[in-house]
Amino acid sequence: MNAAVDKEGSAKIMILGPCSAESEQQMMEVASQLKALNPDYIRAGLWKPRTRPGSFEGFGMSAIPWLNAIQQEFGFKVCTEVANSQHVELALNAGLDALWIGARTSVNPFYVEEIASALRGVDIPVFIKNPMNPDLHLWQGAIERILNAGIQKIAAIHRGFSFYGNSIYRNVPRWQIPIELMRRMPGIQMIADISHIGGHTGILREIAQIAFDLNYDGIMAEVHPDPAKALSDAEQQVTPHFFKEQILDKLILRKGFSNDELYNQRVNHIRNEIDEVDLKIVRLLAQRMLLAEDIGAQKKRQGVSIFQPERWDQIVSRLLEEAKSLNLSEEFIFSLIEAIHIESILHQSHRMNRANELPE
Ligand code: PEP
Ligand code: MN
Repeated sequence: MNAAVDKEGSAKIMILGPCSAESEQQMMEVASQLKALNPDYIRAGLWKPRTRPGSFEGFGMSAIPWLNAIQQEFGFKVCTEVANSQHVELALNAGLDALWIGARTSVNPFYVEEIASALRGVDIPVFIKNPMNPDLHLWQGAIERILNAGIQKIAAIHRGFSFYGNSIYRNVPRWQIPIELMRRMPGIQMIADISHIGGHTGILREIAQIAFDLNYDGIMAEVHPDPAKALSDAEQQVTPHFFKEQILDKLILRKGFSNDELYNQRVNHIRNEIDEVDLKIVRLLAQRMLLAEDIGAQKKRQGVSIFQPERWDQIVSRLLEEAKSLNLSEEFIFSLIEAIHIESILHQSHRMNRANELPE
């Protein structure tokens, strides 16, 4: 497998451009404003998968000449989203330089397989976004299907995951999923789509910084010459000027390692301590599960149900208060207690429903 996008040293991949191609003038304008930044690809959606009908669904194949125009005028490489074999055929015939598979497509192995078949024997970089739902295997499977079609240049795009409820993000990042994908598929470059994770402009830099600190290979961002007038995703698009001044120039690029001996000694020392703490955490969790099982035995004798809403409420409030005073985020502690609670319930349930158990 080859790198999807060749970069020298610590240079980062940049894929910039509007959510959708809206007119030749818009594409020319954005391309000319992006010239100085020299992104690796200009992105623009032709076929827009929208959650609800009635919203703007892209100009489709009639927008292809606008992408060709910026290839010719500026020498830029361009990429677009494909969701079926017809899109692939049109994009390839038009000489587009790379393709990406969106989150609403990578979610479905039938769609991915259709695209993979259309790509057989073709040499073009393909970027694969994570599926809408936080399913690592589905993402990995989509990448494998495209690899199996013989595509050599593949990168993953992390665009966050949909969820129900409130969050500062449009799509929650769940960084552990792309981190695990990088561990499992080390040859695949990882790109953060900061716009679809963020959903609003104020948070884009912070997301890009986290991605860089996690050693991502690059970023995708939606830039538009006049974001307020964008036909799709207006709230999250920024001008090329804003992207440079407020995001790119403010990012701190750090290296992956250092050879400084003192630094390595100190870090190793701290890592040993971390390993000790991690072991203690796991042992404490085991202890907690034994206690849950003891409660299970008591409840079984009395015929009392496992889940007690008031008790759960009490646990959550007490720990969230403690977390606050210790400067731990509510979101983190809540999801941690939730996971512990579910595991405890499973232990209790196992204890209470054990077959052939002698009366206690
Ligand atoms: C997009 O990139 O404009 C897009 C529709 O992305 P996603 O598939 O991540 O929602
Ligand atoms: Mn978009």
